Amino acid sequence: MSKAERKVIRIVNAHRQREGGGFVVRRPFPTTGLDAVDPFLLIDEMGPADYGPGEAVGAPDHPHRGFETVTYMLEGEFEHEDSAGHRGTLRPGDVQWMTAGAGIIHSEMPSAEIRERGGRVHGFQIWVNLPAADKMMRPRYQELDTEHIPTARSEDGLARVKVVAGEALGVRAAIDTLIPIVFQDWTLDPGADVSVNVPPEERVMVYVFGGRMQAGAGGDTITDGQLAMLGEGEALRLANGGREQARCLLLAGKPIGEPVARYGPFVMNTEAELRQAFDDFRSGKMGEITRQAQVG
Ligand code: MN
Repeated sequence: MSKAERKVIRIVNAHRQREGGGFVVRRPFPTTGLDAVDPFLLIDEMGPADYGPGEAVGAPDHPHRGFETVTYMLEGEFEHEDSAGHRGTLRPGDVQWMTAGAGIIHSEMPSAEIRERGGRVHGFQIWVNLPAADKMMRPRYQELDTEHIPTARSEDGLARVKVVAGEALGVRAAIDTLIPIVFQDWTLDPGADVSVNVPPEERVMVYVFGGRMQAGAGGDTITDGQLAMLGEGEALRLANGGREQARCLLLAGKPIGEPVARYGPFVMNTEAELRQAFDDFRSGKMGEITRQAQVG
């Protein structure tokens, strides 16, 4: 028996916006009329931006509480450090899945080399909400270098996927998520035509960040910078009937279904919890980034 195929029910055009220290993102949501797609709170495609020497900007020290930030680099390098003592560099293909939980202060900046000499930065940052029971958990990091992210390909080799979260073509992700989440980077060569199973209780979206492709039972065409939301079902068809390669993120998650109170870097359930988050941040309860003096 064939599985119920999901259909495209809405297509959203990403808008351009400045974020953090002034870097340009393409953002399908939040936007007017679409605050979030439970359990996702934000989708930002960072760049692609070509910076000259001294031009690159990022997001200096700032807090988060109550959700997860997922950073996935495509080109360029980002350096991060935080109040829990983590620091590191994200290179092309690497992913950082950060559960802010009760609170963390971090900085996310293009690498020193890109800041000094210029270069290209392209990647994603996606915010995933946490259920009330996990909002105040101890912060957690999962970081995977590109070579440790499971990959899969269709039998004909025309569809290839990096399985950051969830499961595709029989391959399971290495990242552990608190609620069921799918986060996959698909490359579709001309002629690709695959079916991906996403559990019926999960809400599904496809964001195209290169070329054009078809999605869902009706074969609706989605182009670069568009987000397609899919309706109920299980199997999801991803195809490329064109002549150029297409790239998309496949995102899915089980809706949390709780009230959302959000302001800036904090996402809680109630206004009182939001005020508490601001108080805790101002009084230093989310910590600070300890920076060592540069040697040499
Ligand atoms: Mn951040």
